[in-house]
Amino acid sequence: MTDLHRLSIRELSEGLAGAKFSSRELTEHYLKRIAKLDTQVKSYVTVTAEQALAQADAADAAIKAGTATALTGVPIAHKDIFCTQGIKTTAGSKMLDNFISPYDATVVAKGKAAGLVTLGKVNMDEFAMGSTSENSFYGATANPWNLGHVPGGSSGGSAAAVAADLAPFATGTDTGGSIRQPASFCGLTGLKPSYGRVSRFGMIAYASSLDQGGPMARSAEDCAYLMNVMAGHDAKDSTSIEKDVDDYVANLNGTAIQGLRIGIPKQYFNVAGLDADVKARVEESLKKLEDMGATLVEIDLNMTEAYVPTYYLIAPAEASSNLQRYDGVRYGYRAENPVDLMDLYKRSRSEGFGAEVQRRILIGTYALSAGYYDAYYVKAQKVRRLIQQDFLKAFESVDVIAAPAAPTTAYKIGANLSPVEMYLGDIYTIAVNLAGLPAINAPVGFDKDNLPVGLQLIGNYWSESQLLSVVHQYQQATDWHTKRAAIAEENA
Ligand code: GLN
Repeated sequence: MTDLHRLSIRELSEGLAGAKFSSRELTEHYLKRIAKLDTQVKSYVTVTAEQALAQADAADAAIKAGTATALTGVPIAHKDIFCTQGIKTTAGSKMLDNFISPYDATVVAKGKAAGLVTLGKVNMDEFAMGSTSENSFYGATANPWNLGHVPGGSSGGSAAAVAADLAPFATGTDTGGSIRQPASFCGLTGLKPSYGRVSRFGMIAYASSLDQGGPMARSAEDCAYLMNVMAGHDAKDSTSIEKDVDDYVANLNGTAIQGLRIGIPKQYFNVAGLDADVKARVEESLKKLEDMGATLVEIDLNMTEAYVPTYYLIAPAEASSNLQRYDGVRYGYRAENPVDLMDLYKRSRSEGFGAEVQRRILIGTYALSAGYYDAYYVKAQKVRRLIQQDFLKAFESVDVIAAPAAPTTAYKIGANLSPVEMYLGDIYTIAVNLAGLPAINAPVGFDKDNLPVGLQLIGNYWSESQLLSVVHQYQQATDWHTKRAAIAEENA
């Protein structure tokens, strides 16, 4: 079969179970596509062909033996932030260019236990800091919809790989939009779960109180399959919640949209810099949801102006603390010929970290320093609580909140926005992380240059099933999620 990359996760699952094709065939098909097309997309940092084929053979044996799960034999790409035993994990950084983890992240281990086949590790902004994936030591990844544009970030490799049909789905992480914004830029569905729903064990830390892993795929249904694998309590992550997981696939059907109250924050649609096409596509999608039985309710989210400054104090503060461990001693990059210990630390860190990471370490260290701690970090934590309360108040009168995922479509590669311009692009995503809420991106059309636009729906805590089923039902009634970039139409 030459069109295996067209199949949804459910179709792959059924095809494998029904012996229409084997996992080896499917895996070889994807590896061939990667070999042919990823020279243009540059989504993979590491392709693990040999291991993938061995996993595929084991999957085929399990299917024959009747011990398969729904996903046994289905390929996946992992963001290069998830530790993989015996396979390089770089977090997009020179600092970890030679790092081979002695253990698997819980998400990776769960994937293996479910029989998923790992195709490789995909590119990202260094330590997940960025919105374009250009901050990677391994170079920029291209947006499959227009190779001159970025796929977004930080999970840009995950998004590009799926949008170019170089993986059927992928893991991502979202500290301040890094699943939702690249999903939006690449025309995908991506879910950022509630904080604590997916284990952070073995996921390289950026800002630990905000970091959360989640699925990126072509549809809500595909995301639901991956959520069934990723979600769940993990004793190895102290912030992981002891709460039963839903069956996200089984819950997809029903009448999630009928009677759904969708909050439309006044402040969100008056943001300076909101692109006219993005606004128009988002409004059209909301009209469609209204036609399908939802009610649109105007709401106030009065803290909107505080989102960017609050996130850009808390995230760098936590990052500066988390990244202290890269000292050139225990693991990671080490500067050559140090004259003394201080020289080793200094040069390892200034040679090993890129500019954006260094900027954030400096900002974070400053915000946490003795004289400024109360004025910056403590104040930001207080504002963070107000932002959370703003959302909780809104959820007293609505079920979900709608927003664009990003104010614009994908930037050009090399656009070279200033740090502040770049940070302002995170306006719609970062408050969700500050509050620990779940949110999903769904593709809802294109701008005048044929670049995808995304609708974001923010839910109350633990409403992942609801978000997935709202988007699933929207996707049953529309076909935006079935559109493919030209490069995805190419055969290998
Ligand atoms: N643009 C955000 C940042 O640079 C993305 C962070 C993320 O979600 N990893 O911090």
